[in-house]
Amino acid sequence: MLPFIRSDLAQFSAYKPHPSSDTNQAVDSSTHIDRLDTNESAEDLPPQLKAKLVWEYQELIENNRYPDGGHEELKNAIAAYVNESAHLSPSVFSAANISVGNGSDELIRSLLIASCLGGEGSILVAQPTFSMYGILAKTLGIPVVTVPRDETNFAIDLQAAQAAMETTQSPPIRVVFVVHPNSPTGNALTNPELAWLRSLPEHILVVIDEAYFEFSQTTLVGELAQHPNWVVLRTFSKAFRLAAHRVGYCIAHPDAIAILEKVRLPYNLTSFSLAAALLVMKNRQVLLESIPQTLAERTKLIQALRQNPALKVWDSAANFIFSRLQAHDSVSPSVDIKTIHQRLKASGTLVREINNGLRITVGTVEENVRTLKRMQAALASLECVSH
Ligand SMILES: *Cc1c(COP(=O)(O)O)cnc(C)c1O
Repeated sequence: MLPFIRSDLAQFSAYKPHPSSDTNQAVDSSTHIDRLDTNESAEDLPPQLKAKLVWEYQELIENNRYPDGGHEELKNAIAAYVNESAHLSPSVFSAANISVGNGSDELIRSLLIASCLGGEGSILVAQPTFSMYGILAKTLGIPVVTVPRDETNFAIDLQAAQAAMETTQSPPIRVVFVVHPNSPTGNALTNPELAWLRSLPEHILVVIDEAYFEFSQTTLVGELAQHPNWVVLRTFSKAFRLAAHRVGYCIAHPDAIAILEKVRLPYNLTSFSLAAALLVMKNRQVLLESIPQTLAERTKLIQALRQNPALKVWDSAANFIFSRLQAHDSVSPSVDIKTIHQRLKASGTLVREINNGLRITVGTVEENVRTLKRMQAALASLECVSH
């Protein structure tokens, strides 16, 4: 360890991004590599929109100039979309309710800096959930309190959560992070969970991450006015097909937005990313047309995977599904899930192995057919080994 580095950082490992190069060696060049491990959209922008973006880069973006650091045009477009998609009047949210980040990851970090830094607060998460809350908190020296979920439906253990709120000290819990619907498990917030969030006092920041809103079509933005301590996060990385551009946004009370604007870096988005985000907002209709097909493919994939008695497959409100091996005596589910994950990878399908299960992104029709075929083969080979 370098002697000038904060001592608590020694124990952390860096977030492992897409395992690109090593996986390409695992399969021969004729095999399709299906990247179903990060819940991106299966499709790039349609060619005419990609061409439009290229044109904007060519004609409008000056490489020698700093980007628009105020994001005003994009914020207006996002506010209009948020109102429209939640069936609210066009005046409910405006640019003053929006802050834009370099991915929602930046916004998560800004929220942590603004609320908990300097020993002022801990955060609460219910495991399993999106890993970045804990990772980012720890790199800032912010303690992470975890509570479990029900193993059958992944509902948050609300008794444990309430007890943690009441007993955690030095520092007390300042922020509760929930994903709606949750990753990796795909379940939306339940009525008891919502009632609990509504009951939290105003000195607790409630972060509702709606990264998969376009797939779930359920949102809590309509309740933000009654709860000035709630913020909603969204991203352009999933349904809007812009994972490469790193754009996320926060919807909140203008006072909370003002703080986020203070904390962020002045030019946190590149001119190209701003152009891409604005382009997808202007063309949202056409991009959102593909959502029903993704949802239909999700249903098909779940039903087909459930044909296999070795698998337990949960319902999902997002563009991915969560699956585990059915408990059975002769084998160890945790070892076997790793084997299945490796076999899928060797046959060209990348999925996320997480919390004793697999999180599988819903892909194109062709990709999903291959997922089923390769899953069948991986499970069959496991049967051979264990008997
Ligand atoms: C994918 C995802 C995000 C998006 O992060 P970006 O930094 O915007 O790419 C945020 N939250 C959750 C739960 C996600 O799954």
